[in-house]
Amino acid sequence: MTIGIHRPTQLVIDQSAIFQNIATEKSRLKPGVELFQVVKANGYGHGIIQVARVAEKAGATGFCVAILDEALTLREAGFMQPILVLGIMEPQYADIMAAQHISATVGSIQWLEEATRYLADAHQLAVHLALDTGMGRIGFQHPAELSQAVEYLEGKNQFDFEGIFTHFSKADSADTAYFQQQIGRWEAFMAVLPTRPKYVHVSNSATSLWHDACNGNMIRYGVAAYGLNPSGTELTVPFDLKPAMSLTTKMTFVKELPKGYSVSYGATYTAQQDEWVGTLPIGYADGYERRLQGFHVLVNGEYCEIIGRVCMDQMMIRLPHEYPVGTIVTLVGENHGKTISLQDVADYCSTIHYEIACGFTQRLKRTYK
Ligand SMILES: *Cc1c(COP(=O)(O)O)cnc(C)c1O
Repeated sequence: MTIGIHRPTQLVIDQSAIFQNIATEKSRLKPGVELFQVVKANGYGHGIIQVARVAEKAGATGFCVAILDEALTLREAGFMQPILVLGIMEPQYADIMAAQHISATVGSIQWLEEATRYLADAHQLAVHLALDTGMGRIGFQHPAELSQAVEYLEGKNQFDFEGIFTHFSKADSADTAYFQQQIGRWEAFMAVLPTRPKYVHVSNSATSLWHDACNGNMIRYGVAAYGLNPSGTELTVPFDLKPAMSLTTKMTFVKELPKGYSVSYGATYTAQQDEWVGTLPIGYADGYERRLQGFHVLVNGEYCEIIGRVCMDQMMIRLPHEYPVGTIVTLVGENHGKTISLQDVADYCSTIHYEIACGFTQRLKRTYK
């Protein structure tokens, strides 16, 4: 993918914010509890390698990713820490994982059996058993199945039974009934476990911030590291999260439109009077969604409406008065004391900030401060 380095549009990532969001949470953990930073999806759009470097300095002792290729990216960059792949990979990749000391998530005995066909003799694959306590996504569903899997693993030195975990679907909600139900199922699983493996982990950001759950000894810390409240606006984070991502550009064209003149595809916006209009070099191909027509950006501390359809690579905004070409425009972040958060963008798009952050495409240059 071509990165737009010769244009003024950029995602600016504040590394000190990420550091602080991790270090603060780390300091709240009980002694002996490790923090694995979740850096899947290019570090939620922030850049996998850069985030991993900061996380390491802030006290993360391992990483979680979604797919094997993300784990390999970290290994190629020289990270030696434990890495857990949270998704189920196809058993044919078991040997690549074993060779690279990448831990696999397993949700069935059948997976283990198939993996043995691929594992080279000298190789041992570390596995984390996923328990489905109510997420309904992956994992063992009944304690009896877990017992069988643990028994199966006891006889096999092709595997190292390194971890056991579950994932909560409503840890970010004020209503804790479903969370409690999942805790109940978790306890039923734990009751049949003869010995605890090295890692027992149940906490994503929300669980770690708002629950004291299950005596885990590792957390899978994700979105909060990037300065985003996992609950959106429902719950208050116990410390100040610092958003790490801003998105800025500069106007490439400025003109006065006469009253009655229309803007962009479909001519969906018509000037009600003579209006100053700025053109920005960013569009939906950058992950700045088309449905953001009618939302706003910041110019010199003032909110300016996005007028007309957002195009693939450009979009137009209405200005209060003439501005010079090259004037800085903030699409996400702070500008002269005013702010547009990823949450604001997500609200306008009827989605969550997670989707906006990881939806920014590779074409956007990322710069680090
Ligand atoms: C993505 C993910 C996390 C991190 O979740 P956040 O809400 O970003 O903290 C933790 N565990 C699993 C299994 C995940 O898929």
